[in-house]
Amino acid sequence: SDSNWPFPISPSHIDWSLFFEQNDHIYCNTIEHPLYFSTIKLPPPSQPVEIADVGCGYGGLLFALSKIMPRTRMLGMEIRNKVTNYVAQKIWASRIETNEFWNIGVLRANAMKQITNYFPKSSLTKLFFCFPDPHFKKSVHRRRIVHRNLLSEYAYVLKSGGKIYAITDVLQLHEWHLDQFKQHPLYKEVPQEEIEADPCVTAMINETEEGKKVERNKGKKYYCVYQRI
Ligand code: SAM
Repeated sequence: SDSNWPFPISPSHIDWSLFFEQNDHIYCNTIEHPLYFSTIKLPPPSQPVEIADVGCGYGGLLFALSKIMPRTRMLGMEIRNKVTNYVAQKIWASRIETNEFWNIGVLRANAMKQITNYFPKSSLTKLFFCFPDPHFKKSVHRRRIVHRNLLSEYAYVLKSGGKIYAITDVLQLHEWHLDQFKQHPLYKEVPQEEIEADPCVTAMINETEEGKKVERNKGKKYYCVYQRI
């Protein structure tokens, strides 16, 4: 029921100009702003997407990363229709106001099921999982978005040397994240000094809406960065 909407049969069936170039309409794969996928394979885009924010929520991280890397194309994936519309409209309005943010886009997608439909093998340099739903009960741990089975899918779309960033305010979930990465043969831990010097880490800690909420409530944030071998 959560993904009864169209998605491309492969990353070659998407016209990426709909996200990153001037258009008359918003395209984000929601009910109000549908995307029409190609039925034939399209040539690869001149500038492919390199970064994905999975479960981007209200998009704070995308806007922050756009400032840090204004020439790198990045995409937020969000499962909720309304929230996706909100982010797409915010990007649209911000472009009109500032003529910036041409490198960020958002779409409604179930990343757990569809990530390989959107990104080709070895195409991404960074994948973000910020404050994912904790799914506390043991019986629903398999629904966690950072899960060893899905880490194989993420490894497929990541370039070698590409990184996964994960942050949460739930210690138990952070420990789960560490455990999933450690169990997986395709990832290695990024050294602490490298993590602390990475501006994307600072953005992930401070710029997501959920991160700001945790800050206001004086909660703790736990994070890790793992690298695709
Ligand atoms: N990352 C944002 C932040 O830090 O402010 C939002 C965090 S929110 C707690 C988790 C988000 O993940 C929600 O917006 C939810 O709709 C989205 N989400 C959950 N499962 C998803 C999936 N399978 N694919 C895409 N988004 C998903």
